[in-house]
Amino acid sequence: MLLTISTTHQPATDLGYLLYKHPERAQSFDVASGKVHVFYPEASEERCTAAMLLEVDPVRLVRGNEGAHGEGWTLRQYVNDRPYVASSFVSVALGVVFRSAMAGQCKERPELATKAIDLRVELSAVPCPGDGAMIARLFEPLGYQVEATRLPLDPAFPAWGGSPCFAVTLTATMPLSQMLGHLYVLLPVLDGEKHYWVGDAEVDKLLRYGQGWLEPHPERELIARRYLKFRGLTKDALKALREDDDAPADDARIDDATVSESTEPHVTLQSRRMDAVASAIVASGATRVLDLGCGEGQLMERLRDYAQFEKFVGVDVSYRELERAARRLRLEGWPDVQDQRVVLMQGSLLYRDRRLAEFDAAALVEVIEHLDPPRLATLEEMVFRHMRPRTLVVTTPNREYNSVWESLPAGGRRHDDHRFEWTREQFQGWGDGLAERFGYEVRYRGIGDEVEGVGAPTQMGVFTRGEEVGRG
Ligand code: SAH
Repeated sequence: MLLTISTTHQPATDLGYLLYKHPERAQSFDVASGKVHVFYPEASEERCTAAMLLEVDPVRLVRGNEGAHGEGWTLRQYVNDRPYVASSFVSVALGVVFRSAMAGQCKERPELATKAIDLRVELSAVPCPGDGAMIARLFEPLGYQVEATRLPLDPAFPAWGGSPCFAVTLTATMPLSQMLGHLYVLLPVLDGEKHYWVGDAEVDKLLRYGQGWLEPHPERELIARRYLKFRGLTKDALKALREDDDAPADDARIDDATVSESTEPHVTLQSRRMDAVASAIVASGATRVLDLGCGEGQLMERLRDYAQFEKFVGVDVSYRELERAARRLRLEGWPDVQDQRVVLMQGSLLYRDRRLAEFDAAALVEVIEHLDPPRLATLEEMVFRHMRPRTLVVTTPNREYNSVWESLPAGGRRHDDHRFEWTREQFQGWGDGLAERFGYEVRYRGIGDEVEGVGAPTQMGVFTRGEEVGRG
């Protein structure tokens, strides 16, 4: 995978100072995935090009990753596109060899680091789903001119048609550090491949480099979704490594069933549900978030890295679940000491609690089906009349989908404690009634792979308070 960065900023060789790499020297670095070479194909006063060549070593990748996902040996582990395409390996390599440049530092020419200079980036192969339009949708809003040309599968056999990869040229005038941050985040988003061995620190970096431009980006939902999927997978992989990881999540039995059916085998339904809810909450523009029936805190864990949020409150009746949440969220000293930003409260959603009023957004994820009808009516009053969040995201199982699960006896429910499971019509009837009664707009969508005639395994309703509707 070859990436070049060129400038005609004068003198162009300043690029060497910005990248902390001398234009006259070729250098090589070891990274986890293989070797990175940095060199300058051209370096004159008028025009300077720095090249980063990443040589991914497929054998090393497999060795470093043995046992992480227990798949055993397959040829695909060795023969795949990883050595040739822009992926999170390129991000990791950028972070290693251009660390200071990414941080916006330049010892020799400090004023250069923040200066907008003309830049041209060429990437030899960028994988992108569909027609490649996503490349422009991601980069154009950030001020780039984008050229993307689909690469042939094999230039010697034009009849074979195109590959899933594009040759990409990006041009823009901006500080170099900013451009490196965009590449760092967006290349893995375009790629969408799973990298089980990327650690938590890498994930945090993705969020850090997104700061300042991700929130106002019109495609932030798409970016967050594809990024969070990536993160979910990381978590799953890490989880698999940890022997002492505690009890399965609420729907574990069902999620195991999905694993073998899904086209993305390692993304559990729970993970996709968290991604969908997290995206809806991020997109609502909320700053204060309530997680009602937060369980072990997975949603807050997904959201907490976003700078947009000032406060999270998770409420649950179960002390055991809260203890798990405190561990997951690393809330040292809980329950005696509370974090300022992330607060866990034991409480019931069936009693009025003034501390829960005045939140921007609330989540009610896989909770309503645990309440029998008279209690559900009480919960509706508490949430819609007293808490009155601007945005409320509710999820519940879609009963119609149960017929698809062979492991489920006919007419059976997904969990012993579920008091009901609704069809899409029932859920939407319930939601429409509440929206009408309390002055909300509601939109529905499915979560998980849809099956014709029965819909998706989980259904989600996003309620927006009336006076907010249409405010953009
Ligand atoms: N939202 C979490 C957990 C879902 S399981 C997730 O999706 O991972 C349902 C949770 O609702 C459980 O943790 C249960 O303890 C909690 N719960 C059930 N009834 C409740 C009530 N009346 N008040 C508060 N929490 C309740």
